[in-house]
This record gives sequence, C-alpha cells and structure tokens, in this order.
Amino acid sequence: MHLYVHVPFCHRICPYCSFHKHTPGGHDLREFFRAVVAEARAAARQVPVVPRTVYFGGGTPTLPGRVVLEEFLDELRTVFDFSEVAEWTVEANPRTFDREKVRMLLDRGVTRVSLGVQAWDAGTLAVLGRDHAPDEARAAYRVLREAGVPSVNIDLMFSIPGQSLETWEATVAETIALGPDHVSAYNLNYEEDTEFFDRLTRGEFRADEENDASFFLRADALFTAAGFEHYEVSNYARPGHHSVHNQAYWDGADYLGLGPGAFSTVAGRRWKNVADTRSYVRLALAGGRLEREVESLTPDDLRRERIALLLRTSAGVPVSVLGASGEAKVAGLVGAGLAQAPADGRLRLTPAGRLVADSVAVELW
Ligand code: SF4
Repeated sequence: MHLYVHVPFCHRICPYCSFHKHTPGGHDLREFFRAVVAEARAAARQVPVVPRTVYFGGGTPTLPGRVVLEEFLDELRTVFDFSEVAEWTVEANPRTFDREKVRMLLDRGVTRVSLGVQAWDAGTLAVLGRDHAPDEARAAYRVLREAGVPSVNIDLMFSIPGQSLETWEATVAETIALGPDHVSAYNLNYEEDTEFFDRLTRGEFRADEENDASFFLRADALFTAAGFEHYEVSNYARPGHHSVHNQAYWDGADYLGLGPGAFSTVAGRRWKNVADTRSYVRLALAGGRLEREVESLTPDDLRRERIALLLRTSAGVPVSVLGASGEAKVAGLVGAGLAQAPADGRLRLTPAGRLVADSVAVELW
C-alpha cells in the first residue's frame, strides 16, 4: 500500500495547471487538516494502512505554516503505521519554506523533497505565471541541501511558449550544475479548463510535436551524459534515487489517496474524492461519503494500464503481460526502431519509441 495526500492550496494559480488547486482564500488550514485526519481514520477502519511510500502533492503542501503542518503530521502518525515507509516525498515550491520547516519535515520522517522550479530564467517563469524568481528557487534549493534532505528532485518543464532550445539547454545545464538527485522534466501539456488551453484554442499558442521532440531529446542527451539514468519518459535519477512511489504506481500497486480530488486504487476498485475543498472538509468531518467516480477495474483494465505505464520506463514491460496479440506486434516495433529486441523477458522502448510511448501502448493492447 502507498499513501498520497493532496493539499490543494497555492499562493498563485499557474495558467497551465489542471490539478485540483486554489488559493487558501477563507479556508481554515487547521480545519482542512482535521478533515484529512478524519478521512485517514475512516480509511484505517476499513483496511490496514501500512504505507511503503508516502507522497504529499498538490497544490503546494509546503504552503501551510510550520506549526499547522507539524500538528497534522503528528496526528497522521497516530492513525497509520509508518514503520515501513521507505520513501516520503513532499512537493514544495520556492517561497513556501525555510530551514525550520524543512527540519521539522525531516524530523517527522520525510526523506525526499520535490522542488517546483520549472525554469531558471525569468522570461520563461513569467510566461508560466510562476510566483518565484530564479534567485528564489536557487535559495530554496540551497535551503534543502543545507538542511540535509536525503533526496532532492527538481521539477522542470519544456516546450513552453517563447522558450528557445538554447534557453532550455541553459536550464538543463544549471540544473546539472546544482547536483540534484532526481529531475522530472515534463513536456508542457495544454489541458482543458486552463488558461493555456484557451490561448491555444484562440491561436495565441501553438503545440508543435517536432519542437517537443527536440527539447525531449536534448534533455535526454544532456542529463544522461551527466550521469543521470533516464528511467522513465519524464524522469531522470542518479543511482539509488529512483522514485519508489512513482515506480510502485507504474507497477500497478495499490494506493490510498487522501484529500479533495485525490484518486485511490485498492484491490481493483478506483475512486476519486469529491474535488471541492469546502464539500470535502464538511463531509470528511461529518463522516460523510467522499467517494465519487467509483469504478471497478477488470484484470484486463489493469493489464492495459500496466503496459501503458511500464512502457514509459527503462525497466520496460514483461513480455508475458502483453498476451499473444501484443507479442505478435513486438517484431514490428523492433523493426520500426521503436523498441529494443526483448531482453530478460522484458520489452523496452528506444528513445524514439519513448516519444510515442502512449500510441505504442495502444497498439500492444
Ligand atoms: S504551484 Fe503547482 S499546483 Fe499550484 S497552480 Fe502552480 S502548477 Fe498548479
């Protein structure tokens, strides 16, 4: 079992973001966390929760003040058994933490911080509507290192309107020079119900797959030359720093999601929590039903999902999972330069194949 906690608050809303998030507004953050603990207690009554990994995402989990977060962590630790946690990640944005807050997180078991940087140049950050300057992100990274966080991830984004390949290379180079343990480099997606999607629809922005491919391949070349393993389409790690939580998700492990809009998958059943924070708090505190969009996943649903997720990884997908019709297509993919010839019973994509991993997965279903 793996645990995810969604904290939906952000100081400013980025125009490309499709996650469930909003500004704190009139929300009482202590009450919000009381609601999460109430949900946790209700879950613990249904199923034993001994998480192997914990992931606090958002939103900005480091936005609440140190004391509020500390009370929440201390309370949560009385609900679940955290003795088997191998990795505990907290997403963080620059300007939302200081050394004391990071020390408190480490004291309570956090082992990994994922810092939302996106770019190291002011121009790209302005297009993205980020609320931090490059120097603030540099200072935030130093705080994490000086506090002794065992594993630090830097989140980057590419193929952003106005971003040149040279600017992207400079962002990659500065990231490498800082020496993080892990880097997530995401291709900007134009998601519905975002300001960026509207601007794309109006013709102000243009999605360009060739551009995406150049940025992707450049990052692959620079990060791997610097000693990172490109172990998933969007993820690079130094040896020993793969994200255990993400790997479990790609492997199809069960996970429990707490918080508004959080997804859970437990024993073939998937649901999404009510994605409205006020309703979430009210219902959780009253012991009401939080689950929405409940679906039962068949073994074939889970198999297809596993193929799609594992194909994106350097570990690849076991050939045995593909079934006869999938196996029959392997030679064609190898011939087209999209996949390597299977080795140790697993099918792995080539860099060219990873660029089109999702459509290869559909072909193999
Ligand atoms: S800080 Fe992250 S979660 Fe918040 S709006 Fe920006 S991208 Fe979305």
